Amino acid sequence: MTTSAELFEQACRHIPGGVNSPVRAFKGMDRPPLFMERAQGAYLFDVEGKRYIDYVGSWGPMITGHADPEVLGAVRERLDAGLSFGTPTAIETTMADLICEIIPSIEMVRMVNSGTEATMSAVRLARGYTGRDKIVKFEGNYHGHTDSLLVKAGSGALTHGEPSSPGIPVSLAEHTITLPYNDIDALDACFAEIGDEIAGLIVEPVAGNMNCIPPKPGFLEALRERCDQYASVLIFDEVMTGFRVALGGAQAHYAVTPDLTCLGKIVGGGMPVGAFGGKQAIMAQISPLGPVYQAGTLSGNPLAMAAGVTLLGKVREPGFHEALAARVATLCDGLEQRAADAGIELITQRAGGMFGVFFTGQSRVENFAQATACDAAQFCRFFVAMLDHGVYLAPSPFEAGFMSSAHGDEDIRQTLDAAAGVFAGMAS
Ligand code: PMP
Repeated sequence: MTTSAELFEQACRHIPGGVNSPVRAFKGMDRPPLFMERAQGAYLFDVEGKRYIDYVGSWGPMITGHADPEVLGAVRERLDAGLSFGTPTAIETTMADLICEIIPSIEMVRMVNSGTEATMSAVRLARGYTGRDKIVKFEGNYHGHTDSLLVKAGSGALTHGEPSSPGIPVSLAEHTITLPYNDIDALDACFAEIGDEIAGLIVEPVAGNMNCIPPKPGFLEALRERCDQYASVLIFDEVMTGFRVALGGAQAHYAVTPDLTCLGKIVGGGMPVGAFGGKQAIMAQISPLGPVYQAGTLSGNPLAMAAGVTLLGKVREPGFHEALAARVATLCDGLEQRAADAGIELITQRAGGMFGVFFTGQSRVENFAQATACDAAQFCRFFVAMLDHGVYLAPSPFEAGFMSSAHGDEDIRQTLDAAAGVFAGMAS
């Protein structure tokens, strides 16, 4: 039997860091990443045959569990007709109609191949539509690896952004302003100074890339008001929250309507899919209707559409999200209780089908500074020990966790039993 450690060594020969996306590498975890062989329902099975209760769900798409038979069946059914035609197909219209019905702020939608493509295209569209260059984003929000959004705050509150990575021109990054999340005063100061230069503001309406941080009451509303006041385009990046926080995404959950929405993950049912859409007047600027160029050889791929349409059909079942949120609440409350029993400082935060675990004495975590003030080393100990107990959490203290409808009471019970043992070990 080939072990994960052996496969990782082989992978490192020709794949940078042995992985095709950095967070998979178990950085800081003091062990090589696990190589998975297959997955079913709430479980991952590694190449050594060990089973894990999975709280990553391929980073979000697997909201009805892995290898959902209906999703697989839909893909299988289309397979023999061919993989890609480079022409319109009817199922793309089915997908567009479905998205527009579920998320009414989306009047027109364009399919792409990843969340990164969706945000990149939405930013270009906001710039093209307004004729302005500046983009506002928030510290600790991640919108994929497009140049304009891989930008961190400069040294002062209102300075121009600095590239988060080599390879991004400073001359591009300086058009991106990064503000603290959940801070309405900083938002107001920014718009008061340069509001009429701002093409668009992009936000994770529940932040899921600095652990899980819901918006404070009034924060999303303030974004809407400022964007209205200065005619800037409000973009909700719902790649993670779409169809997860609620059927209609965070915008339905918090009743704040953006101009544009970016989607990914669930919308593709596990296939490489993203989408962006919104107000008809803005979307009409996209080529070939309008002058803002955007395209994709594989966009709207029929197999990917079949997977996504089928999964969206399943999450529309009445009561789906209520049941999912109840499961997340049971898990989170249970973790807090087990940690308290062991004398470990831990809080959880959640929104619908996503959650976060913070090792901290703070009562709430509301922004990047507070998230990074949590005990990352303790999280890493927790992660590794839970793995040994057959529970697969996101391998980073700055990622949200995801549950699926396939997680049953017994899975939650086993997870909490494992956590109780791990907390006791950490406390001793
Ligand atoms: N936006 C958000 C909120 C995300 O969480 C992610 C990925 N986790 C992306 C965009 C980028 O999506 P992708 O990895 O499909 O490019």
